[in-house]
Amino acid sequence: MINLCFDILKDKGSMKKSQLETLLAQYFNLSVVQCIQLNGYDNKNFLIVTATQEKFIVKTYQGHLLLPLLEEESKILAQLTLEIKLPKPKKSIHGNWVEQVSQEHEQLLIRVLSYVEGEFLAEVKVTEELAESIGSQIALMSIGLAKLESSQIQKRKWEWHLNATDELRKKIGLIEKLEVRRVVSYYIHCFEQFVKPQQDQFPKGILHNDFNEHNLLVKGNKISGVIDFGDVAYGPRIYDLAIGMVYIAYDKDDYLYWSANLLLGYHKITPLEKHEIRLLFYVMAMRLCMSLCNSAAAKALQPQNSYASISETNAENMLLKWLAIGPEKATHYFSQTLELDVASPPELKKTLATRHSLLSNALSLSYEQPLHIKSAALQYMYDYQGNTYLDAYNNIPHVGHNHPTVVEAAQKQMAKLNTNTRYLYDELHQYAEHLLSYFPQELNKVFFVNSGSEASDLAIRMARYCTKKKKIAVMQHGYHGHTQTGIEVSDYKFSHPKGIGQEAHIVKLPLLTPHDEDQLAKKWTTIENLIEEQREVGALISESILGCAGQVPLAKGYLNKLYEKIRTSGGLCIADEVQTGFGRVGTHFWAYEQHHVVPDMVILGKPMGNGHPMGAVVCTENIAAQFSQGVEFFSSFGGNPVSCAIGSAVLKTIEEEDLQNQARITGDYFKKALETLQQKHKCISEIRGSGLFLGIELLDQDRKEDSNRAHFIKNYLRQKHILIGTDGPYNNVLKSKPPLCFTKANVDRVVTIIDKGLAHYQNEFEN
Ligand code: PMP
Repeated sequence: MINLCFDILKDKGSMKKSQLETLLAQYFNLSVVQCIQLNGYDNKNFLIVTATQEKFIVKTYQGHLLLPLLEEESKILAQLTLEIKLPKPKKSIHGNWVEQVSQEHEQLLIRVLSYVEGEFLAEVKVTEELAESIGSQIALMSIGLAKLESSQIQKRKWEWHLNATDELRKKIGLIEKLEVRRVVSYYIHCFEQFVKPQQDQFPKGILHNDFNEHNLLVKGNKISGVIDFGDVAYGPRIYDLAIGMVYIAYDKDDYLYWSANLLLGYHKITPLEKHEIRLLFYVMAMRLCMSLCNSAAAKALQPQNSYASISETNAENMLLKWLAIGPEKATHYFSQTLELDVASPPELKKTLATRHSLLSNALSLSYEQPLHIKSAALQYMYDYQGNTYLDAYNNIPHVGHNHPTVVEAAQKQMAKLNTNTRYLYDELHQYAEHLLSYFPQELNKVFFVNSGSEASDLAIRMARYCTKKKKIAVMQHGYHGHTQTGIEVSDYKFSHPKGIGQEAHIVKLPLLTPHDEDQLAKKWTTIENLIEEQREVGALISESILGCAGQVPLAKGYLNKLYEKIRTSGGLCIADEVQTGFGRVGTHFWAYEQHHVVPDMVILGKPMGNGHPMGAVVCTENIAAQFSQGVEFFSSFGGNPVSCAIGSAVLKTIEEEDLQNQARITGDYFKKALETLQQKHKCISEIRGSGLFLGIELLDQDRKEDSNRAHFIKNYLRQKHILIGTDGPYNNVLKSKPPLCFTKANVDRVVTIIDKGLAHYQNEFEN
């Protein structure tokens, strides 16, 4: 236990048992026949047996500082009467609960408490009845404590108080595992957002504040006693409930089941309101964060301390799974356990009808059974029905849904200043400088816009202005945006059966993939001729791994040849990094770097603002200077201070969490696992892509593109609560491009379910 490790850390006293026995005789008139040292918190604890066979707990503390608090704690223990047993303080011969003594030039406080019999909760097999009885006793103790007043406790500044989030934040960096640090930061942020501002609405009182399995005593199937009031604090009474719910569950498999049993017992004594139930989820998470931060701090002080890691493993496992459970599922579960009259989730049919009455059918929905999403966190999305989805698909929340660093940056800047680029403000310069530091020296100017589409539109406008040439070379199956120009340069759209067709000023280049590398020289002559025939090519726009084509990487050497040819014909080269940028491909920050080329312009979007609408064109000094000779460029929102603050927070997070490297490591692991799966399922024709930008191509028994199978797998995964997409000209490629906080454990789950889905499809449709 963390508590115990603090004891060892802080207690440097070396009082001998014989000295203690003398003090006990002198101050408490006790004649000791046996004395055993126990673990303790901030102090030394002893179990003593007297000549009359009475047992007591003796606590000694270094220094005198704790005197007022210990007197107060003793007063409370003396006043509090419950059915269960509590340690009762024994007065000294001078009528004091706490005696100040000097021992070998050391100041000491000493006090004596009655011994509470029973087995520790940690030592027994927990039953539903026991969990419920703990809940009831926590409620009864809360009621009892609420009747007592103590200004000392009310003003106590205590690092184990759940409200002490500022103190806790300072310790996050001490947590070893990046994944855990990220989730801890997330839940501290949630606690500050959702719980702290509401806490004055909840009944408050003195809190025991540490209902862990070493502080609860059990007899039969019931709680018989509570010990260790050393953490007493003042605050919302549901904090004590949440703490109890954590410790009853954190060493078991089914967290919701066990915590709900305890909750039920509490609710029978103190009925809870609906809005309190939802907050319990975050309070419980906060207690786990506190445990992890404080044990990391303890470990940093004393690395060999094994006590710290005992609860750390349980707390860590629970916190990570808590994220995967999510607030919606937990709230549903707890409310159902208490049979609370909660509003049933909105009917999908009705929600769909509302959408269709307001929005065009041109906006498509994913999945046969669309998702009605309520909230999200990092790599998870939560729906109204209480389901959690593992997000293996969305690359826009690049650093994770609602990442606290990004959310906090947005909130702060929103409250401070939001204006446009016609004014000077530092956020713009800071962000521009930071962003440009990721590009080679030649690319040193940036234009900020609000989406990838706007960025491709602007880049093409700039290229046409600078070269005075209208024609644009585009890649087969490419996609660059939804504006008029965007559609014109996107084969994915204009060649669609319902598309506008290829305009005369578009030069479509064949998509050469790694399979064509041997043939590149042979095929190049035709491609070169194609570009030469079109003398007016002002620009080439292409991704390096084509997302809409089904995550197809370009053949090695192809982009180099194209860039050279386009440039010698007087055109400019635009790299589209809307999907692939910001470290996603793992090996490099930008996918074009994999081809060792330097574009004239780079367009950015999606991940740039982690969901906040942002886009940019990065270009050379020369292009920017030429373009400035034309009509003014102005975007009302492009480069506004809020967007800049968000963009900076995204870059900061990528750096702090080493996300490019993470994308490479997790991506390689993912690719390997899929390649193993490929051995088993002949329908997988290819695994391609880089980092966390992967495609799985599926073929049927006749080796034709199998969109039915891809559609089935996508929906199968959705039913199993995993989000993945399909794409490519034949819609037969499964696409995964998750938030970069995606873990290897997440990968394992996705691959296992794809495996099951493919087997299921084969059994159902092929045998
Ligand atoms: N370029 C590429 C490669 C894209 O994938 C997209 C969007 N899918 C865009 C540009 C356009 O970005 P947005 O939808 O943000 O306008």
